[in-house]
Amino acid sequence: MNVASQRAGWSRLPLRAAAFVVLACVAILGISGWSEWSARQTVLRGAETEMANVARSLTQHAEDSLDLLDSGVVGVVSRLEMDGADPTTIAKLKNLLEARKKAMERVHSLAIIDDQGNWLTAPGTIASTLSDDAFFRYHQLSPKREAFVGHPVKSLLDGEWVVTLSRRFNKPDGSFGGVVLAAIGSKYLSHFYEQFEIGRNSSVTLMYGDGLIIARNPSNEKFVGRSVADTPLFRDPSLQRPSGAYHFKSPLDGAERVSFFKRSGHYPLVLLATVDKEELLAPWRAAAISRMLYVLALVMLIAIIGAVLVRQLQRGQRMAAALVEKEAHFRLLAEGSSDMVTRIGLDERLRYVSPSSNRVVGWRANQLIGTNALAGIHPEDVSQVQAIVDAMKRGEKDEARVTYRNTHRQNGEVWLESTMRVTRKDNGSVDGVVAISRDITEQKQLETRLETLAIEDSLTTLANRRRFDERLNEEWARAYRDRSSLGLLMIDVDHFKAYNDEYGHPAGDACLRVVAKIIAAEMQRVGDLAARYGGEEFAMLLPNTDAAGCARIGERIRSAIHDAGLVHASSPAAACVTVSIGGAACRPTFERTAGAGSLVEAADRALYAAKDAGRDRLMMSGEVTTLLARASGQ
Ligand code: GH3
Ligand code: MG
Ligand code: MG
Repeated sequence: MNVASQRAGWSRLPLRAAAFVVLACVAILGISGWSEWSARQTVLRGAETEMANVARSLTQHAEDSLDLLDSGVVGVVSRLEMDGADPTTIAKLKNLLEARKKAMERVHSLAIIDDQGNWLTAPGTIASTLSDDAFFRYHQLSPKREAFVGHPVKSLLDGEWVVTLSRRFNKPDGSFGGVVLAAIGSKYLSHFYEQFEIGRNSSVTLMYGDGLIIARNPSNEKFVGRSVADTPLFRDPSLQRPSGAYHFKSPLDGAERVSFFKRSGHYPLVLLATVDKEELLAPWRAAAISRMLYVLALVMLIAIIGAVLVRQLQRGQRMAAALVEKEAHFRLLAEGSSDMVTRIGLDERLRYVSPSSNRVVGWRANQLIGTNALAGIHPEDVSQVQAIVDAMKRGEKDEARVTYRNTHRQNGEVWLESTMRVTRKDNGSVDGVVAISRDITEQKQLETRLETLAIEDSLTTLANRRRFDERLNEEWARAYRDRSSLGLLMIDVDHFKAYNDEYGHPAGDACLRVVAKIIAAEMQRVGDLAARYGGEEFAMLLPNTDAAGCARIGERIRSAIHDAGLVHASSPAAACVTVSIGGAACRPTFERTAGAGSLVEAADRALYAAKDAGRDRLMMSGEVTTLLARASGQ
C-alpha cells in the first residue's frame, strides 16, 4: 500500500466508523425486528395449531353425535321393518324413543313419520305434515337406505334450530313405509362448545355444508340460522379443501381472526374455530414493545456513543493532520536553515539535530543525536552555558541567548551564538529546550579586530592616543582612591623632521617602530602602558610609580634608544637617533583640584625643558621647577 492510498484510507476512517455504527444499529434493529416478527409468527402458528386441534376434535364430536343418532335411527328402522308400523309397535317404540332421548342429552328429538308425512310419535299435538320437507321427499323418492343429514331447520316441537338425521323404512313389500328422524339441537352443541376455553373473543362455529350456521359459541342465539355462504370459506376455491388455517376479517364484527376450518368427511358439516388476532397478539405485542424499547434505547446509546467516538476520531485526525503540518513546517524551517537547530531533552541529550550541524560543528546530525548537548563547549564557557540551561530547565527563564566557543570537528574551535527557548508540555511543565546555533567566528574575529583597531596604533602597535587618554583617567582615579603615586613620561624623538628629510618618510616610519619597540620593552609591570601620543611623540604611563622610579625608567628608555645607534647624520644633538623625555609623578589625592591633564602638562613642560637643555636627556617635572627658579634667580 502506498502512502497516498494509506492517507486516503486514514481520511475515510471516520466515515467508515460512522458507517459501521449505522450498520450495527441497523443490524440490531433488523435482528430484533426479525426476532419479534418470528415470535409473532410463532404465536400465530401456535394459535393455528390450537384452533386445528379444537376444529378436529369438535368435528369429530359432531360426527360422533350424528353417528350416535344414526345408530338409534338404525335400531328403530330395523324394528319397524321387522315388526311393522302398527299402532302397538309404534306405541312401544314411542316409549323406547322417549327413553333414549332422555338418556342422551345430545338427542333433541327422535320421531317416526309415516309414508304420508304424518308424525307417528309426535309428542303433544303436532298436526302438521312433513310431506313437503326436504328429507321426507328425499326418502320418499330415493330407495337408498343410507342416513340423510338434512338442512338445519327450526324444530316444529320447540322452535330450536336442529340438524336432522333420517333413514327410510320399508314396508314388508319393499315400498316406502316412512321415515325415522333424529335431531341434534343447536343449544346442546353450543353448550358443549362452551367447555373449550379458547379466549374471550374466540369462537367455535358449526355450519352446514352450504354455510348455514348450526351452532356457535359464544352468542349462539344471535348467529344460529344465519348463512355465511358468501364468505371466502365457501366461495374461495383455494379454501375448498378438507381442512386448513384461514385468516380473515369477520363479516360479523369486523375483527381480524385466525382460524382453522375442518370439513367433515362423512356429513355435510364444516367446523370453524377462530381466535381474535388482536387478543391473541396482545401479550406478544406488549412484550415486544417493551423489548423493542430496550433495543431502541440500546441502539440510541450505541448511536450516541458512536457519534461521540466518530467526532473524537475526526477531531483527533484534524489534530494529527495539524501536527503533521506543523512538523513539516518545522522540518522545512529547521532543515532548510543554515543555522543548526537542536532540540535538547531534560537529560541534556540531543533529541533532534538539523542537517546544518555538519557545517556548523562538523558532525552529522545522526552522529550527534543522543549525545550530550554541552559536550563540545569550550571548558571555560561550559559553566556559563550550563547555568543558563539549568535556569531554563527550572522554568526560571523562557528564552536566552549565549555566545561560547565550541570545538569543530575539522576547524578546531568556532564561536557559536545560540538562541535558546524552552518547550513545554500541554500541562505547562518544561520538557526541553530548542536551540538555534550559528557560527559567529568571523564576526567575533572582526569584533576583536575592531576592538584592537580602536585602541591600537597601527604603525607601532602601541596603544593609541585614545587608549592612552582612557587609561590615564582610569589610573588617575585609581591612584586617587589608592592614595598611590602615578608617573608619566613624555618621549619625543629629537630632530625627527630632519631625519625624515634625510632618509625619507618610510625610513622615518621604520625608525618610529624601532623606537616604539624599545619603549614597549620597558613596560615591566602589568599596569604600565606605552602609547604613541602623536607623531614622533610617545608616552609611558607608570602606575604606582614615584618620581624617582619614573626617572629611572625614563633614563633607561633614553639610553636604550641612544644605545640602539640608529644613524641620524643630520642631527645636531648626536650622530644617532635620540629622544628627549619629560617625566612627572604625583599623588592625585594631594592634588585635589587638578585633573589628569595637569600631570600631562607637567610632563610636557619637563619635555620642553629637556629639549631646551640640549635634547637626548630626561628632565623630571621637579627639576623643571628648580631650573625655572634658577633661571629667574640669574
Ligand atoms: P625637535 O627635536 O624639536 O622635536 O624637532 P623635530 O623635528 O622632531 O620636531 P618637529 O615637531 O618640528 O617635527 C616633527 C616631525 O616628525 C615632523 C613630521 O614630519 C615627523 N613625523 C611626525 N609623525 C611622523 C610619522 O608618523 N612618520 C614619519 N616618518 N614622520 C613623522
Ligand atoms: Mg614632536
Ligand atoms: Mg621631535
